[in-house]
Amino acid sequence: MRLLVIGGVAAGLSAAARARRVDAGLEIAVLEKGSTISYGACGLPFYVAGRVRRAEQLIVYTPAYFAKERNIAVRTGARVVSISHPRREVVLDGGERVHYDRLVIATGARPRPADPAIAALPQAFTMHTLEDAERLKRFLSEKRPARAAVIGAGYIGLEAADALRRNGLAVTIVEQSPHVLGRDDAALTATVRQRLERFRVELRLGERAQGVERYDLVILANGIQPNVELAAGAGVELGRTGAIRVDERMETSLAGVYAAGDCAEAMHLVTGRPVHIPLGTTANKMGRVAGANAAGRRARFSGVAGTAIVSVFGMGVAFTGLSGAQARQEGFSPVAARITARSRARYFGGKPITVELVADGGTRRLLGGSVLGEDGVAGAINVIATALHHRMRVEELDDLDLAYAPPFAMVWDPVLIAAQQLSKMV
Ligand code: FAD
Repeated sequence: MRLLVIGGVAAGLSAAARARRVDAGLEIAVLEKGSTISYGACGLPFYVAGRVRRAEQLIVYTPAYFAKERNIAVRTGARVVSISHPRREVVLDGGERVHYDRLVIATGARPRPADPAIAALPQAFTMHTLEDAERLKRFLSEKRPARAAVIGAGYIGLEAADALRRNGLAVTIVEQSPHVLGRDDAALTATVRQRLERFRVELRLGERAQGVERYDLVILANGIQPNVELAAGAGVELGRTGAIRVDERMETSLAGVYAAGDCAEAMHLVTGRPVHIPLGTTANKMGRVAGANAAGRRARFSGVAGTAIVSVFGMGVAFTGLSGAQARQEGFSPVAARITARSRARYFGGKPITVELVADGGTRRLLGGSVLGEDGVAGAINVIATALHHRMRVEELDDLDLAYAPPFAMVWDPVLIAAQQLSKMV
C-alpha cells in the first residue's frame, strides 16, 4: 500500500510524518516540485529584515533526514502535472507515472496575480518562497533602493514593510480595502496605522496601487490564492471559497484522496461555514489529520477560529474569531468591550495591552477578540481562541483560573478584565 503526498512543506510533510507513525509498514513518498522542502515561510520577512542571518536557518528538515529517520522517500524537482484517479496514478513533468493507493494533496497557495503592468516591473517582488526572499535580499544589497511601495496590508505586507524599514527604506503601503489584515475592525486598523506612522511608514487605505513604477522597489502582497488546478483537473470538488472542499477527516470528494494546508478549506468554528484562511498552524494540523486518515486511523479536524498574530514594528497584533463588524455581517447581535490594562507588573517591565472581546448579545456566546501590545499578546489571544473552541459564554471566560506572579502577569489578567467589562454589557 503506497501513500503519495504532493507538496513538501508544512501540510505535506506533517501528513507523511503522521502516516508513518500510524503505520510503520506503509510505503510513503512525497513529491515536491521545488528544490527545498520543509522551510518556514513564516520566517522569510525576518530573513529579509536581517533578523535571521542565513536562509538555511529556515530549513527544518532535509530529504536525507526523512529517508533516514522516517523511512519516507522525498523527491525534489518532481512536479506533478496531472492526477488520474481511476488509474490511481499521478503524472510527473517529463511523463513518469507514479502509482498511489492513497493520495494527499498539499500543494499550498501562491500570490494572487497583481496588475500585469505592475508585476512586470523589474523592481517588483513577491515574498512567498525562499527563492523570492533570496532574490529580494540580492536586490536590496545590489541596487540599494531608497523608496518602496508595498501593495497590500495583510500580514505579509505589514511584515514586509517592517523588514524594508529595517533595511533603511522609506515605505508606503497601499491597500484597496479600508482596513488592514483583512479584518473589518476600525479600532484595530487605527492602532496599526498609529504604529506604522510612529515608524514613519505611510499607510494609504482605500486606494488602488497607481504610479508605483516611481518607486525603486515594489512588493506585491495583495493576497494569496489556493493551488487547486491539479485537484480540480482530477475531478476533486472545490468549495465556494475556491479552495478544495474537504470533510472533517480532510477527505476530498474523491474517496482515498485527501487535501490539507493552504490549498484546502476549513470549517470556521464561530460561523460554522467553510473558510479559506491559509496559515502555517492550520496547515500542520490539517496535514496531521489527513496523514492519520490516509494511513487508516480515524482522525478529525475540528476547524479554525482564524487565530493569527503579526508583529508590526515590535507591537503584537492578534485576533481570533469575528470582529464586531464581521459578527454583524454574519447575523449576530454583537456587543463589544475594549479595555487597556498592563501586561505584568510595572516594575517588571509591564506594557499597556489592549484587549477587545466581542460576544453575541442574545446568547452571551463569545464570538471573537483582538489583542494589541508589546508584551503578553500571544498568551492573551490564545486564551480567547481556546474559549472560542469551547463555545464559551462571557461569564465562563470570566471564571477562568489564570496564572499570576509579578514577573509574568497581573493579578487580574487583561482578558478577564475585558470579560468582566463585557459581562456588564451583554
Ligand atoms: P506550502 O508551504 O505552499 O507548500 C506547498 C508545496 O507544494 C510547495 O513547496 C510547492 O512547491 C509544492 N507543490 C505545489 N504544486 C505542486 C505540484 N504540482 N507538484 C509538486 N509539488 C507541488 N503562517 C502562520 O501561521 N504564521 C506566520 O507568521 C506566517 N507567516 C508567513 C509569512 C510569509 C512571508 C508567508 C509566505 C507565509 C506565512 N505563513 C504564516 C503561512 C504559512 O507559511 C503557510 O500557511 C504554510 O506554508 C502552508 O503550508 P502548505 O504545506 O499548505 O503549503
